[in-house]
Amino acid sequence: MSVAIAEDVVAEIQSLKKQLGATILAHYYQEGEIQELADITGDSLKLAREATKVESPVIVFCGVHFMAETAKMLNPSKKVLLPDMKAGCSLSDSCPADKLHRYQEMLRENGHKFQTVTYINSSAAVKALSDWVVTSGNAEEIIRRVPSEYEILFVPDRHLGRYLSEVTGRQMILWNGSCMVHEIFSVQDLLKLKKQMPAGKTLAHPECPANILEHADFIGGTEAMIKYVGSFKEPVDFLVATEANMMWQLQSRFAQHRYHPVPGITCACNKCPHMALNTLEKLRDCMLHQSPEIIWQPEFDQARKVLEKSLLNPAPAVKHPAGD
Ligand code: SF4
Repeated sequence: MSVAIAEDVVAEIQSLKKQLGATILAHYYQEGEIQELADITGDSLKLAREATKVESPVIVFCGVHFMAETAKMLNPSKKVLLPDMKAGCSLSDSCPADKLHRYQEMLRENGHKFQTVTYINSSAAVKALSDWVVTSGNAEEIIRRVPSEYEILFVPDRHLGRYLSEVTGRQMILWNGSCMVHEIFSVQDLLKLKKQMPAGKTLAHPECPANILEHADFIGGTEAMIKYVGSFKEPVDFLVATEANMMWQLQSRFAQHRYHPVPGITCACNKCPHMALNTLEKLRDCMLHQSPEIIWQPEFDQARKVLEKSLLNPAPAVKHPAGD
């Protein structure tokens, strides 16, 4: 898209936003041009919480399907629009609700007494089968709230689950899912970058496998990364192992530093193809047509209860060094 056309589309979006009385929420993994237009940017936890404070009748959610679904569940009376209904998530897809239900039944039949702790990157139907929903920002806190007499079935991200099991000391039964973006960072390329920049600091998202996390100076979700980077006043080279658009957010907040993406094995940019389905034109069109819209589904009733208990009623503060 040429600069002039992009400027026109941005002007149309701003005018539609006023007409509709809409609030635009954008995840840090959206393109910078979309983040720039948003009223609120954030990680899954921040956006879910912020969505409950929105006063406007329409929420336009620039993120993937499970995020828009979460915003709807927490705001049943609002119209929630998603620029592209096909913006899914490989991690969410790795745990279909019927398969999880069968697995839970099998565990119960075999005498396991467990609670299901589910990463927010999952469908509403999966959340409805869960005891808790966590994000990378509050997972440690929630896991510490699960009574010790219960085993923990952690779904769907096996890497995040393994990491959380290590930091909390809780044994977990791990679902075998993963994120297609965070799973493919190349250890060899990371080590090469570290050699070129020995004073550099490596940031890694806990959705990355252990072989990346073991070389990280900092492990945490995207909000925690922002706090960590913000604590450095002098210029630093940061090697970033998370979705590449996160660097736009870091660059715009802390321009004194340099940011280097850790390359993937198969792709040098590490952009999420699902997030990338949302474009400026689709953002404009969804406001123009007030569609696609997230429509209330029967499973939302139970999923909403689990979400509210997990995300909106934080326990008294506990120390959790990595996440936010
Ligand atoms: S980055 Fe990974 S976890 Fe996030 S939406 Fe894309 S596929 Fe899903």
